Amino acid sequence: MLPRLIIVVPCYNEQEVLPVTAPMFLEKLKQLSEAGKITDNSRVMFVNDGSKDDTWSIIERLSEEDEHYIGISQSRNRGHQNAVLAGLMEAKDICDITISIDCDGQDDINAMDRMVDEYLGGCEIVYGVRSSRKTDTFFKRTTAQGFYKLLNAMGAEVVYNHADYRLVSSRVLQEFANYKEVNLFLRGMFPLVGFKSTSVTYERNERLAGKSHYPLSKMLNLAFDGITSLSIKPIKMIFSFGMFVAVLSFIGVIWAIIEQIIGNTVSGWASTVCILCFFSGVQLISIGVIGEYIGKMYMEVKQRPRYIISERTYERQEKSNHE
Ligand code: UDP
Ligand code: MG
Repeated sequence: MLPRLIIVVPCYNEQEVLPVTAPMFLEKLKQLSEAGKITDNSRVMFVNDGSKDDTWSIIERLSEEDEHYIGISQSRNRGHQNAVLAGLMEAKDICDITISIDCDGQDDINAMDRMVDEYLGGCEIVYGVRSSRKTDTFFKRTTAQGFYKLLNAMGAEVVYNHADYRLVSSRVLQEFANYKEVNLFLRGMFPLVGFKSTSVTYERNERLAGKSHYPLSKMLNLAFDGITSLSIKPIKMIFSFGMFVAVLSFIGVIWAIIEQIIGNTVSGWASTVCILCFFSGVQLISIGVIGEYIGKMYMEVKQRPRYIISERTYERQEKSNHE
């Protein structure tokens, strides 16, 4: 039996680009079903992430025009990761495979053919990997590459140059649903689930319209979140550094005692101030890093919902039609 595909598309204030890219997704869905790779009742699911512009009304209009479009709306803006999660969790019971993709046309939709082929060949997760970043500015390219290097160095394993363009089977999503954390970093979490996976490469284009919601500050936040959600290496590094400093201090103390005994002591104001400043800085940063983890635990223990779907363009019982 052919798999049913749902393309999950998070949208936040995308009224300029949505009318351009929505027909492209639909066209791709048709091509795939005509090629006999997926069923005809596959869907494009838009997840409105609490947009403040006309995005939701565009989604509603699209879903009236063609039954292949469906949409859900989050009760407020919760960020890209939560929007993708909402879409995937909504889709997992009503389809066989999902492909998550941004709605701005930056990711080449033609890579979907190869993704579905890999699924049909037995892979449960297919990561979309950017082959080059020619169209990104020099600044975006270097910061983004630094981002992946930093993540891996800090113990958060992510697929290099993979963002959130990815095919995931509903089988994986059923297991993924047991990962209850509220601090989400999807691209680093799917490798943890396991199952057979592979990557397909694609060229990344420029945004077709509208503007990016990921300036450097948000990228840095995402990197820091990714690291602290997936790894405790920063805490271990603080510990190693602490040990190193402790050994140095021990040597320092012995040296100070010897100097005192020989009567060599001079008034060392500058060195005292430097050491004091240095260690106050180190201590504050260390407390900050540990605080970040405590903050994350605080958010986790509250177990607040990770998404709230306030509206749908369809009836939820679509599930029974599928079975
Ligand atoms: N997005 C979202 N919620 C947000 C911010 C962004 O759902 O709070 C969506 C956005 O509509 C787009 C995707 O996430 O489909 C990626 O955002 P963007 O293109 O602005 O980021 P970039 O590609 O520049 O990193
Ligand atoms: Mg984009």
